[in-house]
Formats: sequence, C-alpha cells, structure tokens
Amino acid sequence: MGKPTGFLEYERKTSETIPPKERIKNFQEFHIPLSEAEQRKQGARCMECGVPFCQSGMMIKGMTSGCPLHNLIPEWNDLVYHGNWRQAYNRLKKTSSFPEFTSRVCPALCEAACTCGLNGQPTNVKENEHAIIEKAYEEGWAAAKPPQIRTGKKIAIIGSGPSGLAAADQLNKRGHSVTVFEREDRVGGLLMYGIPNMKLEKWVIDRKIKVMEEEGVLFMTNTNIGKDYRAAKLLKDYDCVILACGASNPRDIKVPGREADGIYFAVDFLKANTKSLLNSNLTDGKNISAKGKHVIVIGGGDTGNDCVGTSIRHGCASVTQLEMMPKLPEQRTPDNSWPEWPRVLKTDYGQEEAIAVFGSDPRIYQTTVKEFKKDKDGKVCAVVTVKLEPKKDEKTGRMNMVPVAGSEKELPADLVLIAAGFLGSQKYVTDAFGVEVNARTNVATAPDSYKTNVDKVFVTGDMHRGQSLVVWAVREGREVAKEVDFSLMGYTNLT
Ligand SMILES: Cc1cc2nc3c(=O)[nH]c(=O)nc-3n(C[C@H](O)[C@H](O)[C@H](O)COP(=O)(O)OP(=O)(O)OC[C@H]3O[C@@H](n4cnc5c(N)ncnc54)[C@H](O)[C@@H]3O)c2cc1C
Ligand code: SF4
Repeated sequence: MGKPTGFLEYERKTSETIPPKERIKNFQEFHIPLSEAEQRKQGARCMECGVPFCQSGMMIKGMTSGCPLHNLIPEWNDLVYHGNWRQAYNRLKKTSSFPEFTSRVCPALCEAACTCGLNGQPTNVKENEHAIIEKAYEEGWAAAKPPQIRTGKKIAIIGSGPSGLAAADQLNKRGHSVTVFEREDRVGGLLMYGIPNMKLEKWVIDRKIKVMEEEGVLFMTNTNIGKDYRAAKLLKDYDCVILACGASNPRDIKVPGREADGIYFAVDFLKANTKSLLNSNLTDGKNISAKGKHVIVIGGGDTGNDCVGTSIRHGCASVTQLEMMPKLPEQRTPDNSWPEWPRVLKTDYGQEEAIAVFGSDPRIYQTTVKEFKKDKDGKVCAVVTVKLEPKKDEKTGRMNMVPVAGSEKELPADLVLIAAGFLGSQKYVTDAFGVEVNARTNVATAPDSYKTNVDKVFVTGDMHRGQSLVVWAVREGREVAKEVDFSLMGYTNLT
C-alpha cells in the first residue's frame, strides 16, 4: 500500500465542471480534469482493501455492486499515486477494452462499493481511470499493436456498439480476422447515436476505431444484416457470427392522441441531434429542434436526462420530466446498505442545467401521461398527466403504480420525447438467423453462455442481457470472445 494514511490526509476531489449556463452554449464535454499532482493524491486515497468490493462486480438484490469488468482498481490507484502511469495503463488494459468510454459514461459502480465510501467519500476511481487512458494516448502507449500471427478464422460481428467492439478487439488481438457490420453510417452503436456529445465527444470513438482498423479489424457501415445482406450468406462466408445488435425496440406510451405530430422516441431525437451536429454543426435542418418549445420528457432515467440537456442546448421554452416512481431519498435507507448500489436521489447534468436556467428541478414524480392533445393541424399541443400511487397486487404481492382518480392535470407541450426504456431484440434480425428469444425478447442462451440455439451463432450485449450499461456491454463482449475463441480453437487464452 503506497500511502497508508492517504485516505485520512486527503479529501476526495473531482474534476471541476463548466457552470451550467456556460456549458449549455455548446455540445462539448464539460469536465475539466484535475492536475496530475492532484490526481496522484486521489490515487493515494485508495485503502487497497484485502477484499476489494470495488472490483467485485457482483449482483446484490438484482443490482450490480462493483466493477463488472473486475478492473484491478486498487492496483492502478496505487500506480497512479506513484506516478507509474505506464504500468497503471498495462494493468488497466488487462481487464478493460475501452477505458476511454467507461471513464466518461460509466455510473462508477466501483465507487458505490468503495470501502472509503462506507464512512466518508469514496476514492475517485473513474477519474483515475480517465487520467490513465488519456496519458496512454498522449504518450503513444495506446497506439495500434496488430497481432503477429493470423489464425485463418473469419468472424462476422453484427453491431458496432460497445459489446460488438469489445468482442472484435479481443478476437482480432487473438489473431482471428474480424469484420464488424453496422447498419448506421457511423460506428459506435449507442456510444455514437445515443449518448450525447456532451457526455462523450465523438472524436473519442473515432480515435479508438482508427487504432482498431490499424490493428486489422474491418468495419462495414451502412450494411443492415437481414435486410441488405442475407444471414445465410454471412453464415456461409464466416466461421462464426456474433449478434451484437443492442436492444433497440423503444417502449411506447399507448394512450389516446399518440398519433399526434411532435411525439418522438428519445433515441430518435438524440440520434438526429448528434448526426446533424457531426455532419453540419446543426445547420442542415435535419435535427428535431426543441427551440422555443415546451418539451415534455416521459421517463425520469438517464436517457430522459440526456433529452433534458439536449433540449436546453436547443433553447427550449420549458422542459418537464415525468417520472412514474416516487422521489428517491437523499441518503441510503437502512434496507439499502453499502456495498449495494445506492438507491438515492441523483441530480444529473441535464437536471442541473434545467435548475440553472428555469429555476427548478424539471422532474415531476409519481406521474404519467394519460392523453396527448393535438391542435387542428394534428400537432401535439398538451399532455394530460395523472398522479400515480403505489398499490400492492393481492395476487402477486408486487407493488404497482396505479392512477389516482381525479388527479389529472394539463401541461402545454409542443414536443414530447418518450424515454420509457427498451424492449429486447428486433424480430427481423432474430428471424433472419432463426435464433430463439426469451420472454423478454432477448436472445436466449444457457446461463453464463453466449451461444444461441443456432450452430456458429453467438449473442452479446444488450441483445442478450437486455437494456443495460456500457460497462456490462464491454464485459459481455469480452466473455463472448472467450467462448467463440474456444469453439474455434478448442482452447482459449483470452481473459
Ligand atoms: C440515450 C442513451 C444514453 C445512455 N447513456 C449511458 C451512459 O451514460 N452510461 C452507460 O453506461 N450506458 C448508457 N446507455 C446504455 C448503453 O449505451 C448500452 O447499454 C450499450 O450501448 C449497449 O451496447 P451494445 O453493444 O449491446 O448495443 P448498442 O450500443 O445498442 O449497439 C448495437 C448496434 O447494432 C447495430 N445493429 C442492429 N441491428 C443491426 C443489423 N441488423 N445490421 C447491422 N447493424 C445492426 C445498431 O445500429 C447499433 O449500432 C445509454 C443508452 C441510451 C439509449
Ligand atoms: S468501468 Fe465503471 S465500474 Fe469499472 S472501474 Fe471504470 S468507472 Fe468503475
């Protein structure tokens, strides 16, 4: 342990952020990294626990505690403290395919399970990760390292989100020849066309893709497997196929008036924005603009928050975020103790910005939409909301949120964004390959396996696990790579 008293001597310090009213003027990332000296102090705060919960990635009560990649966090915290950045990078790369992405967008499951956080502030793990990977690029350590030997095996990966990319990276390093097929015009999946630019600037993805290309991975964009390219041909041309198509069926709000103009799924809104931003700095008129509009976001989660932040950057007249569930407490409750994921109130960047611009938190809790109202031109002009209260279902014992009679209210709305989650895989892809799906329409496999019912076809990421997180997608990508490698070679040395 580098600095036994580090956690006593130093306070947790995180990067400064550009103030909300300034940062909403553009779509750039808004964290100002700590100085190298300060980051090293943050590394010194790690207690290097004998049993490090931060890297456990275990499930407790259905929620993840610690890093699903089992990143060697105490090791690299110590190496950061000692300024041994090269070795810190070597240890980080051992378990993590894309620290440049996770250190920007991960909710830091590690920090929630940090022992320092049990009785104070957790170690600043995520920003240590960020400092290591950015240093590695600066110093040239993250440059391409193509494999020395090729195995002659060909693998097709469908989908270029974090899961498909992690599988591609691992299998290519192992010497297999990997082609990634992507139906969009750019690579990255939801990293590119879901998560907004202010959370993850898109040059960060392009930088990594360039390295992967130099290492030999082939990317075929604008290629929709199951539509432009037949599944049967893919199965004939490749030794193995990995489905990494995500969970892209958005959950709808099926209430009267849904057909009105001006109601969009969140991802369509976010994707159009990023595409127009990258293609023309928002001058091509192809984004869905919230400028001057009263925006209603249905869904209080992270995607809803991204819609709030994006609408504010467009210059919306107002933004309201509807959340079905009750407001969470400020502190952990006794039935949610460490190291469980803390079920506490989080005010994310978009909500902070709404508070700065409009003077109040945009979230309304225990509320949903009962009806969309439209004007004479068929455009949405208002939403009718209704309050919800928890009620126990006598048969199942489950708590459901049910409408409260007489609690209806009308809110003005010119733009409605539905951010109510996603429902499993897309049928045209699963039908094309003949793979079985489970009750949640995720592609079915045996537990802890990634092999589908169809010979040579594997599945990974959100398409397998259901809607999740980037860190889980990367973990799944690395795991499927091991199983595929084993099936092709009869053994595997991938970790
Ligand atoms: C708006 C939004 C914000 C999010 N923010 C965060 C965040 O901040 N942090 C976090 O950890 N997670 C976040 N997530 C979740 C995270 O992005 C996903 O869990 C993760 O991207 C899943 O990775 P994946 O590789 O399984 O699938 P995806 O990223 O969904 O990628 C699947 C890819 O497959 C392609 N594809 C599908 N079908 C075909 C086909 N037939 N042929 C060719 N290509 C095909 C798709 O175009 C897509 O590019 C967010 C999700 C959304 C929607
Ligand atoms: S990937 Fe996420 S959980 Fe894992 S170390 Fe990084 S920030 Fe923590």
